[in-house]
Amino acid sequence: MKAPAFDYARPASLDETFALMARHGDDARLLAGGQTLLATLNMRLSEPALLIDINRIDALKGLTVEGDMLRIGALATHRQIEESPLVARHAPLLTMAAPHIAHRAIRNRGTFGGSIAYADPAAEWPVCLAVLEGFVVVRDRDGERRIAAKHFFIDLYTTDLREGELITACELPIATDADVFAFEELARRHGDYAIVGLAVAARRGAAGISRMRICYLGMGTVPVRPAHTEILLEDKALTADTIDAAIASLKTELDPMGDLTNTAETKRHLACVLARRALTSVLETTA
Ligand SMILES: Cc1cc2nc3c(=O)[nH]c(=O)nc-3n(C[C@H](O)[C@H](O)[C@H](O)COP(=O)(O)OP(=O)(O)OC[C@H]3O[C@@H](n4cnc5c(N)ncnc54)[C@H](O)[C@@H]3O)c2cc1C
Repeated sequence: MKAPAFDYARPASLDETFALMARHGDDARLLAGGQTLLATLNMRLSEPALLIDINRIDALKGLTVEGDMLRIGALATHRQIEESPLVARHAPLLTMAAPHIAHRAIRNRGTFGGSIAYADPAAEWPVCLAVLEGFVVVRDRDGERRIAAKHFFIDLYTTDLREGELITACELPIATDADVFAFEELARRHGDYAIVGLAVAARRGAAGISRMRICYLGMGTVPVRPAHTEILLEDKALTADTIDAAIASLKTELDPMGDLTNTAETKRHLACVLARRALTSVLETTA
């Protein structure tokens, strides 16, 4: 199918964008990489009268370190992130996760901001943002808000983004020498959205692992953090026994949603298999 007819605007500044958003309200949609939006238009899932192409706005671009944060401009593409030495150094989890996102052609165009705004529960970037306890920076005509990831993702495809706001950037705490990361996912074919995946961010301390963060994709309506299991792994050495204990804990703590092709029980099983792989990789790195 073809997209319904729409008008197209390509503002050069945020002020111009906010003016268009205010004038057209719910009849307008922001266009970033278009890798999700254009597919939904072609399927006639939405029929906006105006697309506001934000790709000319320099304020939304770039990857920079600011203090102890890595700032990812909303328009940074999946590919720029995947290939960035700055990201590899300061947020290596993103470098691990990026190749799992769709195919190269989609990664060439799709953006970090678009993925965070769309908030697909099977997407990789929301889970990375959540496990790293990063922030989403949003702006409207009146100013800026900085929203912690745990407050940003509210429900299925539903975020804390308000009418008239757009995402300008995301901020991630930069990795220290004590941090270790792992990313695992399972998709039927490479490039498909994953059935289940997880990101792990662990910090080494005097007694072993001082901080453990685990976050799942494909397991709920938003990125899912198994808080009880995280705490179970903290302030002790990571060993084969503690990994066994973590898997046992996940089996009771995880409460996935089944979908058209996988039951909740299958997802729980896969989530535990992937957790064992990820935690074993952390163990091998920290040994
Ligand atoms: C075949 C296929 C496979 C895919 N597989 C995966 C996958 O495995 N993993 C994955 O994570 N993604 C996958 N995607 C989606 C892809 O990653 C998209 O690039 C991403 O979800 C949206 O980014 P975009 O820049 O293309 O956004 P767009 O499509 O331009 O926009 C998406 C939505 O976000 C809004 N938006 C965009 N930018 C902003 C902003 N700065 N502020 C506020 N709102 C904004 C738009 O208005 C729109 O509603 C796949 C896509 C396709 C077509």
